Amino acid sequence: MDIQYNLQRIQQNIHTACEQALRPLNEVKLLAVSKTKPVSNILAAYQAGQIAFGENYVQEGVEKIQYFEQQKIKLEWHFIGPLQSNKSRLVAEHFDWMQTLDRVKIAERLNEQRPANKAPLNVLIQINISDEESKSGIQAESMLDLAKHIENLPHLRLRGLMAIPAPTPNVAEQENTFKKMAELFGQLKQTFPNRQIDTLSMGMTDDMPSAIKCGSTMVRIGTAIFGARDYSPK
Ligand SMILES: *Cc1c(COP(=O)(O)O)cnc(C)c1O
Repeated sequence: MDIQYNLQRIQQNIHTACEQALRPLNEVKLLAVSKTKPVSNILAAYQAGQIAFGENYVQEGVEKIQYFEQQKIKLEWHFIGPLQSNKSRLVAEHFDWMQTLDRVKIAERLNEQRPANKAPLNVLIQINISDEESKSGIQAESMLDLAKHIENLPHLRLRGLMAIPAPTPNVAEQENTFKKMAELFGQLKQTFPNRQIDTLSMGMTDDMPSAIKCGSTMVRIGTAIFGARDYSPK
């Protein structure tokens, strides 16, 4: 697994997708999704210039964050998994971003639990845009209500939206869903013109070009950087 090579190839793919969409090349940020992968893989990515990493499991993420803190290596950590309220404190205390916010209750807990000596926690509202089966994400109609609530929480900073659409190989379907997200993102920016609403997190290994075409500003890539994940018991 040549992580440096993979990162270069993905950056190249991001550039190509931006060019085709007539978008500036620096508008799309790469989040390296390192769940289930060892710190040695993260270190290799860091040495190749990658700073932002995404983790899905609270305990695993916190262990990695603490490892790199001890090494005095400053990385940017995004929580991108489903969050149970009894684990919110660990996210509030250790992560820089929380991308899967979909409930007032979690927002309030994160706000209370964010340490005063840290910058506000950057948050994205997760929208359940296409996957009716999935329990994560709120319905589009509820976006503004939740956003207005977050506005009043001083230790959170609302930065935008995130979605994990139901996977489909059909590019037209992918784009249809991503366009809906882009519309919601526009609506959010219009509603809060004085806030730094700048992040639309969508696009994974298999649907990245469609996401960029439709306005994504952050793609979350795991497999294409670190290889397939092994979930079998070790
Ligand atoms: C695992 C995961 C990714 C990365 O998926 P790949 O297909 O490996 O690129 C992105 N976003 C979320 C929310 C994930 O859980």
